[in-house]
Amino acid sequence: MKHSSPSCTPRLFSHLYIEKAVLDHPQTRRIIEKFDRSNIIVIGHYKEVFNRPSQSFATQSGAKKLILARREGKFLHEGSRYSDGFGHRRFFYASSLMGCLYDCDYCYLQGLYPSANTVLFVNLEEAFEQLLPHLSEETLVATSYDTDTLAVEALSGQTSQWLNFASAQPNLHLEIRTKSANFRAIDDHLPNPRVTLAWTLSPQEIVDRYEHGTPSLSHRLKAANEAIRAGWKVRLCIDPVIYTDGFETLYPALIETVFQTVDAEKIEHLTLGSFRMSQSHLRALKKLGRSDVAFYPYDVRSDTATYPEAIERHILETLRPEALRYLPEAKLRTWERLSLEPIS
Ligand code: SF4
Repeated sequence: MKHSSPSCTPRLFSHLYIEKAVLDHPQTRRIIEKFDRSNIIVIGHYKEVFNRPSQSFATQSGAKKLILARREGKFLHEGSRYSDGFGHRRFFYASSLMGCLYDCDYCYLQGLYPSANTVLFVNLEEAFEQLLPHLSEETLVATSYDTDTLAVEALSGQTSQWLNFASAQPNLHLEIRTKSANFRAIDDHLPNPRVTLAWTLSPQEIVDRYEHGTPSLSHRLKAANEAIRAGWKVRLCIDPVIYTDGFETLYPALIETVFQTVDAEKIEHLTLGSFRMSQSHLRALKKLGRSDVAFYPYDVRSDTATYPEAIERHILETLRPEALRYLPEAKLRTWERLSLEPIS
């Protein structure tokens, strides 16, 4: 069986599809200026392009198109049980982008969306309006939950908008998770103690095999170090751990490389979590047949596919002690299957 889909570096946005209703939005105008050599096609609604039947995710991944649209309805969604709210009772993720610049073989977006193209909702000011009524108490928003917003920051400017908004909202905490090396896109902002920048890390062999179009491990670590030096709270995430050929050496070596490069005392947390996905997304991933990750004989419990309990325990029992060589227990967070019990 092939390990993964062929690596591809996407050609960036040869076509911009723009909803007529947002043609005059300031964000749209800014983006059009940046892509002055792209073909612009005016459409009525993003679904005309994004939801077209019989699209090929694999083909589109190599030449993604950008769709600018207005989000109708909710920008904010309750935090999902597949993710960690870091102790916050009120936890949302914001959905201002559909699709991702990157192309990870294990990504559930392939099972979620009919298209590999990217939809950018330019009316982010409405997300802030929707959030305001919740900010009477401490609230966490993951701004990059099912995409990588920092990867497209030069284009979207949305992370900057979130940082500006958060600086005026004392109860708002942000988590901005990324695989990008793009800290410079936001380094003109003052660090905010309520904002955590989180880098997802994988062994370079896993990056090469499964995380197409993403920056190398060393570039991600360099960006994390830049953020630490600038005074930001930084979280490192080895999540998802892919249990694959070479796990026993690749992941312990990753932890060693990480803490040879980054000062363990300066990070907020290291999180460890093994691959998990809803059963329906996994079915869709299998249909695409792009990677061996989809075909592992997972256990399914509460509609979630995870590694069998013995493998999951083995992953944690291998990586926890490695991490604890560098970090106190309080700085290590692990995702465990207990969190999959139905929430009562
Ligand atoms: S970076 Fe995250 S959101 Fe983007 S393709 Fe990879 S797993 Fe999916």
